[in-house]
Amino acid sequence: MPDLFASAKKRLMAAAEMLDVDGDVLEMLSYPKETLSSSVTVRMDNGSLKSFKAWRCRYNDALGPTKGGIRFHPDACIEEVMTLAFWMTFKCAVAGLPFGGGKGAVAVDTKKLSNRELERVSRQFMQNYATFVGPDRDIPAPDMYTNGIVMAWMVDEYSKMTDTPTPGVITGKPVPLGGSKGREDATGRGGFYVLCTLAERLGIEPAKTRVALQGFGNAASHCAQLLHEAGYRIVAVSDSSGALYDADGMDPAEVLAHKKDTGSVAGAPTKGKSREIGGEELVTCDCDLLVPAALEDQITCDNAADVQAKVILELANGPTSFDADDLLLERGVWVVPDILANAGGVTVSYFEWLQNRGGDYWDADTVRDRLRRKMETEAENVWAMAEEYETGLRAGAYMHGLKRLEAAISAHGTRAYFNGGS
Ligand code: NAD
Repeated sequence: MPDLFASAKKRLMAAAEMLDVDGDVLEMLSYPKETLSSSVTVRMDNGSLKSFKAWRCRYNDALGPTKGGIRFHPDACIEEVMTLAFWMTFKCAVAGLPFGGGKGAVAVDTKKLSNRELERVSRQFMQNYATFVGPDRDIPAPDMYTNGIVMAWMVDEYSKMTDTPTPGVITGKPVPLGGSKGREDATGRGGFYVLCTLAERLGIEPAKTRVALQGFGNAASHCAQLLHEAGYRIVAVSDSSGALYDADGMDPAEVLAHKKDTGSVAGAPTKGKSREIGGEELVTCDCDLLVPAALEDQITCDNAADVQAKVILELANGPTSFDADDLLLERGVWVVPDILANAGGVTVSYFEWLQNRGGDYWDADTVRDRLRRKMETEAENVWAMAEEYETGLRAGAYMHGLKRLEAAISAHGTRAYFNGGS
């Protein structure tokens, strides 16, 4: 994964230049606070021992305890973890949450593990990181190929190790273990609320908008369902095993049911004559709204000129490379950036953390209503920033987050001593 972190930092530098940010703030935000590498060593079902590389990074905690998911993916690496933690720092700032940014990963292919092996990996990860995380220090959550069950094993392990039930150490838990109602669909729903808030200004009308979604997992499938219900036409979906296009549209609930049955979106029922397309073709297929919801670096200089969508809603983290951004901006393609578009997940994670600490649990309508208001407010803030500086929504979002981070870092700092202040 060459240059992912360097590319991510270019966005910080660009926003800092526009805002004329203090050098101390840039120095603080240019490096991760701490990253702990380890080996997750577990006994496999066949009796052998196997080690998987693992990392957890606390990038910056100026705004509060660090917060961010744990990813299980064979290609995970320290650079990706640091970059994801960097993005979390900005995402929490954009969403106005009292959290810094963190992230974790294990380099493992979950498709090659039995359930018992997956449980051992999850529990061992928590054993390795029990002194690194904590409800006031660093709070993990699910990410790609981890879910509520994995979080349940991890919170159980932490509670056993500390001999104290501590639901607030992890979010995205199952509801009976202190999870929040509405966390499961929060990322897709949050993206949907952001899109609804900005739709008119982005030139989008549901009935006339054809949608392509890359990566039909948690984030994409929930967003697709809400878009479908609002009158958008879903014309393309993909997952790691294939992609499907149908100009007449498809019902996301049926696609999801098919994926649950067969493990793939390929062959899912559609309204017309569907055809299988290559995963790469999905990014440039004939659609109006593109929703990348899988991996980083999917829209790059190599394919940005061929993107046909007018709007890109980034549910994935980092799906668009730094250089592709400029190309898209020049071509008038709106990019609703990840640090705003997928902030619904961490927002409801924050609600879960609040509920765990208060011991007071909210109903689903309360969660959704608070999420909607949060996403609407921050979408408006990002839009206003982009308008003021006559730039795109990516730069608008980075500047919006950076202002909050700058205020917090400056409030912590001692710079004034050297400026003649006291
Ligand atoms: P998930 O594991 O539920 O789903 C991921 C999907 O991507 C799967 O359907 C998988 O088959 C597909 N996929 C993997 N490689 C692919 C490829 N090369 N091409 C097409 N599809 C591919 O994960 P998720 O939770 O939905 O996360 C998806 C993205 O959203 C990630 O970038 C994640 O960091 C981001 N995100 C998720 C959340 C959340 O709360 N779930 C929050 C913020 C951001």
